[in-house]
Amino acid sequence: MRRKLVVGNWKLNGSLQANAALIAAFRQRFEPVSGAQCGLCVPAVYLQQVASLLAGSEIVPGAQDASRELQGAYTGEVSAAMLADAGGKLCIVGHSERRALFGDTDELVAVKFGRVKAAGLVPILCVGETLAEREAGVTDAVVIRQLDAVLAMHGRSALENAVVAYEPVWAIGTGKTATREQAQAVHAVIRARLAGVDQALSADMPVLYGGSVKAANAAELFAMPDVDGGLVGGASLDAQEFAGIWNAMRSGLMDK
Ligand code: PEP
Repeated sequence: MRRKLVVGNWKLNGSLQANAALIAAFRQRFEPVSGAQCGLCVPAVYLQQVASLLAGSEIVPGAQDASRELQGAYTGEVSAAMLADAGGKLCIVGHSERRALFGDTDELVAVKFGRVKAAGLVPILCVGETLAEREAGVTDAVVIRQLDAVLAMHGRSALENAVVAYEPVWAIGTGKTATREQAQAVHAVIRARLAGVDQALSADMPVLYGGSVKAANAAELFAMPDVDGGLVGGASLDAQEFAGIWNAMRSGLMDK
C-alpha cells in the first residue's frame, strides 16, 4: 500500500512559546497508525526546537522552503543541508505562496527540489492551478507542466521517495475546499502523468491534497482512491483541528 501522510504547514506563524504549547497539545491527542506518517513543516528558525519537541513521537519535522544555493555569499538564505542539520526530514518546495509572492518559477522550484533531495530530505512538491487557470480549462496542463519541470531537470529517479501535493491556489487559505471529485480528478491526472514515466513510480507516489482541509472534510477527501493525505495550512495551527484531520486518516486506515 502507498504511504499516506498528513503534513501541517505553519507558514509564517509561531514563537518559541506558542510552538511548545501547540506541540504539547497536539502530542496529547496524537496516536500513530501503521501506514501513515504525520509531519509539521515549520519556519526554519524553529526547526531545531520543533525537532526536539517531536523527539520520540513519530511526528516528523520539516521545512517550508530551501535555498537554491549550497553555501557562500547569499545573505539571508538557508540551505537544504542546514535544514537537515537542524533535524528536518521533509521540505515543501514550490508552494503557491512562494510561486506567487516570491517569484519561484518552475525552473527555480526544480533546482530547489534537487537541493532538498541531495540533502537527504523528502521533498513535498506543490503543484496547482489558479482560479483563472481553472476557469480557462488549463488545470491539467498547469499541474503537468509543474511536474514536468522537475522531471526534465532531474529525471525519474529524483521522484523516488518524494511527495506531490496538489494544492489548487483558489482553495488555499480561502475556506473553499475542492470537492472530493475535483481533487480526485486532478490527482488521477498527476498519477497518469507519472505512470507515463514509470508505472511503479506512479503506484508508489503519495499525492496529497491541500486547500482548506479541516477535520470536517478530511475523511471524505482521504477516502478518494488517489488522495493519499493532506497538506494542511491554517488548521495545523489548532491542535484539536489538526488532530481531527489526523484522526480522519487514522480511522480510514483502521477500517481497512
Ligand atoms: C497550505 O498552506 O499548503 C494550505 C493548504 O493552506 P490552508 O490549509 O490554510 O488552505
